[in-house]
Amino acid sequence: MSIIPQRIVERLKELRATLDEPRVRQRLTEGSGEPNRPALRSPRRVTAASIEALWQKIRAVAPAGDEQQRLLADPDTLASAECYGANIENMIGTVKVPVGVAGPVRINGLNAAGDFVIPLATSEAALVASYARGADIASRAGGIAAVLLTEGVLRSPGFKFANVMEAGLFLEWVIDASAELKVAAEATTRHGKLCAIEPMMDNEVVFLLCRYTTGDASGQNMVTIATEALCRHIETHCPVRPRHWFIEANYSGDKKSTYLALTSGRGRKVTASVTLPRALVEKYLHVSVERFLDYSRMASLGAMLSGQIGAQGHFANGLAAFYIATGQDAACVSESAIGFTRVEDRDGDLFISVTLPNILVGSVGGGTGLPSQAAALHLLGLQGPGKAAALAEVVAALCLCGEISIIGALAAGEFTQAHRKLARER
Ligand code: NAP
Repeated sequence: MSIIPQRIVERLKELRATLDEPRVRQRLTEGSGEPNRPALRSPRRVTAASIEALWQKIRAVAPAGDEQQRLLADPDTLASAECYGANIENMIGTVKVPVGVAGPVRINGLNAAGDFVIPLATSEAALVASYARGADIASRAGGIAAVLLTEGVLRSPGFKFANVMEAGLFLEWVIDASAELKVAAEATTRHGKLCAIEPMMDNEVVFLLCRYTTGDASGQNMVTIATEALCRHIETHCPVRPRHWFIEANYSGDKKSTYLALTSGRGRKVTASVTLPRALVEKYLHVSVERFLDYSRMASLGAMLSGQIGAQGHFANGLAAFYIATGQDAACVSESAIGFTRVEDRDGDLFISVTLPNILVGSVGGGTGLPSQAAALHLLGLQGPGKAAALAEVVAALCLCGEISIIGALAAGEFTQAHRKLARER
């Protein structure tokens, strides 16, 4: 008797039946046989005319008509086409993502102090309602304490040597040359500062984990450009020659969830907390403190059993909606959405905190200057220089609001009903 699970056997049989069709078999093994079509390209400078020209080319290869063009390349987008040029290639328009608000949420932060209306861009029904509910109850409890703990954006070039002894000699040289490496890196930027070079050796391979502060930018480009200059300095001046080196050797955790990021942080590390009085929990979350804690304990166990990096409910929901609304790099949600949510009984009231070690946000740079993204940051009062630290604290506070609401909904048995009401039956 086969020990291969039956569902896998059934699936293989289905696939086999499909593959036996000659046309499918031919497509998979020989391709379509049609000649390649030229890649769609547009000039670097984006204008209404370049967008129109690209649509003409698209029509020859894709099922696109006037209606699709009208919706993507709408008059507002065409009128402001030039301002997108630094942020995209082959631009054909903009996608309209609905934006809702949560708040005002009171934040008593080290850097963010006041009542904030938080823009969230999403097409997921119930998301904004959930964050708004958390914001409301946290504000009724006096507001969220938020503290930016550390910051340090990482780039990790990798160097390979002939053997472990050469790798050691290289490291010796790097230690002696660290001051000049810092000068070389910082020559590329006014705001980026190289704070540390943390070596990691694996026999004859050496990673240099370069940690920067990046002013008010989220900093991924800044650290790449600075680290390239650092590596070029090594290439020119180091007597121990690597066989090869690469600017990013996949050790920094850029756009990945990693244990490194959980423990050492990549971006801004922020912690936020609030104590919700028992009466507020019962009135607004419809659940007792005890049941809220019961759920939290079970959720922590679930996180451990499933191998979650950290333990939290749904940081990614708020982060993705916030990053999209405010022009942050949405792909960095993959690393920002790790961390911990912790819940405790505090003399009968409910203490709840979140800690996120990798918040990657900027109040300048990236997509923050685009028209609607800049408007969203303005709504927060956090657009432009001097605002990134406050922005990171707002992000952590937002995640806390989401955790309060989702844990409350699951503990009260309202989770399914809320989604049915807000998403399905609307
Ligand atoms: P950026 O827009 O590339 O750079 C920020 C710019 O703002 C710099 O020119 C900086 O000048 C300037 N600036 C002015 N005032 C500043 C202030 N107060 N604080 C900091 N900078 C200030 O943005 P970035 O944050 O470096 O990079 C973010 C983008 O990188 C995201 O859009 C993301 O998509 C992308 N990204 C890139 C990589 C990559 O490896 N290339 C990887 C992931 C993501 P100075 O440099 O002279 O200070």
